[in-house]
Amino acid sequence: MKAITLLGSTGSIGTQTLDIVTQYPDQFRIVGLAARSNVELLAAQIRQFCPQIAAICNADQLPGLQAAVADLDPQPILLGGEAGVVEVARYGEAEAVVTGIVGCAGLLPTIAAIEAGKDIALANKETLIAGGPVVLPLVQKHGVKLLPADSEHSAIFQCLQGVPMGGLRRILLTASGGSFRDLPVEQLANVTVADALKHPNWSMGQKITIDSATLMNKGLEVIEAHYLFGVDYDQIDIVIHPQSIIHSLIELQDTSVLAQLGWADMRLPLLYALSYPERIATDWEPLDLVKAGNLTFREPDHQKYPCMNLAYAAGRMGGTMPAVLNAANEQAVALFLAEKIRFLDIPHLIETICDRHQAQHQISPRLEDILELDQWARREVLAVAGKLESPVAV
Ligand code: NAD
Ligand code: MG
Repeated sequence: MKAITLLGSTGSIGTQTLDIVTQYPDQFRIVGLAARSNVELLAAQIRQFCPQIAAICNADQLPGLQAAVADLDPQPILLGGEAGVVEVARYGEAEAVVTGIVGCAGLLPTIAAIEAGKDIALANKETLIAGGPVVLPLVQKHGVKLLPADSEHSAIFQCLQGVPMGGLRRILLTASGGSFRDLPVEQLANVTVADALKHPNWSMGQKITIDSATLMNKGLEVIEAHYLFGVDYDQIDIVIHPQSIIHSLIELQDTSVLAQLGWADMRLPLLYALSYPERIATDWEPLDLVKAGNLTFREPDHQKYPCMNLAYAAGRMGGTMPAVLNAANEQAVALFLAEKIRFLDIPHLIETICDRHQAQHQISPRLEDILELDQWARREVLAVAGKLESPVAV
């Protein structure tokens, strides 16, 4: 039985991971849980999964959490604040930590888990994108596995099993195209938050759903693929595949192309990250190609979606630039979700902040530099957004 800790347990990735634990109680058990603020759900999860430790990042809510599970015997260790989440990440005999926190907030807990020798089932892509230059050497140093749980990267990782060193030529990331894939570019200026949150294929947290609508999610995944698989940016391409049945493909040196297919269901990549290299038998609905119907592909539209090129450019610069891109995106998306800026302000803000960072760009940053720049980029976005000529004032 594998002992796992789950960060971000109340979110989309978190609750789907717990579905897997519920379905396969002989395979997995929960050592630690952490979430930001949903006391009610976290308390229910503590009752059901009996972790040894749990944390709520919003420290003000710790007393509420303590009261909600006061009758439990034995009592789990309950902690509050960012330090509490870090403690959960490194605690006890968990072999693997599923990182389902959204955003760069996952960076310090992920580092703590790596330093404690735990394998990482990585959903929290922002941590790798912002922290790649410090996270990857730590993964090497502590000899832990960094197992992708993002569906595209899981697909690539699955296809790579058995490919010899040097056999990989190119990665092809598939993209659903997000909420506005069939909307003419002229209409993007006036889309609303509610429109952007209607993803055609996947049900996910709000931030990644907006990232899918801007195609920044795919841009972030290009950088994620570069860090996970060591492939040059010239060898990573994006193809729009509206049905989300092929989760990504790899091209080998002899032009053979391998793909991984399945329904759009995050439980499958999560299960593989947790069971690797084993394959656990499930009773999930098998893929039916006839039912899936036509699988179609088209080129991504870089004019309509500038975020992809912004991400490629930041990835190619490397060092601190992806951290700045990521933080600017997180802040811009938060402003859009709060209806303070318009949809097309998102790429504009990110580009402005990345341009401002050029002069201070560092190739081999320390963790402190990344954390500082993350805060700097957020402040810059707020300052620039405040001056936008927008009908909605910040
Ligand atoms: P979500 O918003 O549904 O959930 C985020 C979770 O993180 C919540 O449980 C929240 O309480 C917790 N959290 C946020 N800040 C925290 C903090 N500082 N400390 C502790 N917990 C904190 O988001 P999601 O859709 O589950 O996405 C999570 C991550 O997985 C993101 O990085 C996303 O890009 C990635 N991802 C998600 C999906 C998906 O299908 N949802 C697919 C691929 C990758
Ligand atoms: Mg993905």
